[in-house]
Amino acid sequence: MNDRIVGIMGAMPEEIDAVVTLLSATKQSSHAGRIYYEGYINQIKTVVVVSGWGKVAAAATVSTLIHKFNIHELIFTGVAGAIKHGLKIGDIVIGSRLLQHDMDARPFIPQYEIPLLKKTYFECAEQQLSVARIAVNDFLQHGNLQSTVGDSALQQFSIDTPRAYTGDIASGDQFFADETKKQQLLHNLPTVLCVEMEGAAVAQVCFENQVPFTVIRTISDAAGEGSHIDFAAFIEKIAGKYSAAIIKNILL
Ligand code: SAH
Repeated sequence: MNDRIVGIMGAMPEEIDAVVTLLSATKQSSHAGRIYYEGYINQIKTVVVVSGWGKVAAAATVSTLIHKFNIHELIFTGVAGAIKHGLKIGDIVIGSRLLQHDMDARPFIPQYEIPLLKKTYFECAEQQLSVARIAVNDFLQHGNLQSTVGDSALQQFSIDTPRAYTGDIASGDQFFADETKKQQLLHNLPTVLCVEMEGAAVAQVCFENQVPFTVIRTISDAAGEGSHIDFAAFIEKIAGKYSAAIIKNILL
């Protein structure tokens, strides 16, 4: 048993339900419309919560985790749309830098820069990156993926040999399901691997409060036409299971 308190967030209940089942000695409380589950995973005190979609929901929730539950670090787990060519459904992206693709206060401040902070990218600390990489690679290797998710679910989503990537993640209050928008983002921000709606908001709040963070995203769609298809099944059968298995590997 140690004094460390870890916060775990996801945007949707389906992503986080499997993580809640890992908790022992669970108690729950409600704040500002969200349920916070406290308990232990591998004897580490953990608080798990569903934020809802989008940057405001994510920022409000992580603030509560920091100020009410006194977390020392934050792990965000969820799904994302692939931006970089070659990323496939079922691959995992660990965010080395998070940025807000919808922040634009020009002409006063350069596009994407966060006002006051004079900062565009929020970096994940080296320690968190290395722990996440080990946890994700362990999950993807040694048959752990097959035993956790099952062959029929993997086949249903044509997931064969998923890969782990580390790189930039862009967040904003938009669901990407349009090829033109996707190409525009890639043109403006060529290092971005995937797009989602919460990570960089969490990263900003953590940065401002000096709380280390990790963002781990399973690729659920190609962020182009057809991105909305099969979400419910994907999250239940694949993403939730990925999240629980990776969290178990991180909280050691
Ligand atoms: N469950 C919904 C889909 C949710 S997608 C459905 O049934 O259709 C929105 C969530 O997934 C957000 O939390 C966001 O972070 C992430 N996400 C996944 N793919 C995305 C994309 N292409 N663009 C933006 N956010 C995406």
